[in-house]
Amino acid sequence: MSSATRPASAPPQGRAVGGGLQVSFEFFPPKTEQMAEQLWRAVERLEPLQPRFVSVTYGAGGSTRERTHQTVVRIRERSSLTPAAHLTCVGASRAEVDAVAGRYLAAGITHVVALRGDPPEGEGGFRPHPDGYRDAGELVAGLRALGDFEISVAAYPEIHPEAGSSRADLDNLKRKLGNGASRAITQFFFDPDVLLRFLDRARAAGIGVPIVPGILPVTNFAQLVRFSRQCGASVPAWLAHLFEGLDDDPETRKLVAATVAAEQCRRLLEAGIEEFHFYTLNRADLAYAICHILGLRAAPAEWLAERRAERARQRGRSA
Ligand SMILES: Cc1cc2nc3c(=O)[nH]c(=O)nc-3n(C[C@H](O)[C@H](O)[C@H](O)COP(=O)(O)OP(=O)(O)OC[C@H]3O[C@@H](n4cnc5c(N)ncnc54)[C@H](O)[C@@H]3O)c2cc1C
Repeated sequence: MSSATRPASAPPQGRAVGGGLQVSFEFFPPKTEQMAEQLWRAVERLEPLQPRFVSVTYGAGGSTRERTHQTVVRIRERSSLTPAAHLTCVGASRAEVDAVAGRYLAAGITHVVALRGDPPEGEGGFRPHPDGYRDAGELVAGLRALGDFEISVAAYPEIHPEAGSSRADLDNLKRKLGNGASRAITQFFFDPDVLLRFLDRARAAGIGVPIVPGILPVTNFAQLVRFSRQCGASVPAWLAHLFEGLDDDPETRKLVAATVAAEQCRRLLEAGIEEFHFYTLNRADLAYAICHILGLRAAPAEWLAERRAERARQRGRSA
């Protein structure tokens, strides 16, 4: 097709995007009033994109138990969104973790992202609580025994730093899925081929559930480099080059970040991947722009109002 006959909505290259696209957004529980306002602005801005779900993290060392709970419940009460709660095994007995999960069920929250979790800063390696779940696989089995949860787990395209081998890491993922998880969300990565190779390995190992790529739009490159070292994600030289000289130029950094992430997603879309999980860091602008580039459009205000009303009726019925 020549450019003269290409429909106005078609992207300049590649296939048309947006059709079957599904997204989810990850937030963290706010510490202060100001941070809470920022979070709610982000939630309201992203809500019309109709994400499949939005998730709220559980602080390292299990430090945000109450704040995570409050945030998840508020999202359910105040919006049309389906919230998912991250839950970890760190620093708590099985009975304590089960009690948190029970409170979620009672509040109508049935989607949990089940994780082993990272220890509090400065504590070195993960040490399970003497009466606690020892890893995410055990937590998944515990949740499955407790109630009818939808359970997502973590996956590592570049291998978890504590895994003995890529095979052992995949076996661990299979165990989590075998114990009752139905979706994996990946650690962030930047090279689309890294994800595609991981998906090939996972499919060859017999994993058939959705493995949703975790997309991190880069806002602070220096911080990214530190964090990537800890979690085993690689930072390609081309990415460093793109952010070179932009330390004091947040506006250009944002434009570059949106371009990089949109291009990453576009290449994955071309490879047939249609679901993405965005690490938003409680900011909507980049995630919104990337989704827009990929073809997602906000639902009309009337539709959203009707959906909110329907959600309120559902809450009323289940209360
Ligand atoms: C999408 C996503 C969301 C996250 N959200 C949070 C969050 O909210 N809060 C937080 O604190 N952290 C979070 N993390 C980080 C996560 O807690 C860490 O990566 C943690 O180190 C591992 O958690 P896991 O659930 O993957 O652990 P697991 O799946 O239990 O395993 C971690 C590693 O240990 C190995 N392993 C585990 N059990 C065994 C075993 N029995 N024998 C041999 N090897 C074993 C596995 O192979 C794997 O390499 C998140 C990560 C991702 C990808």
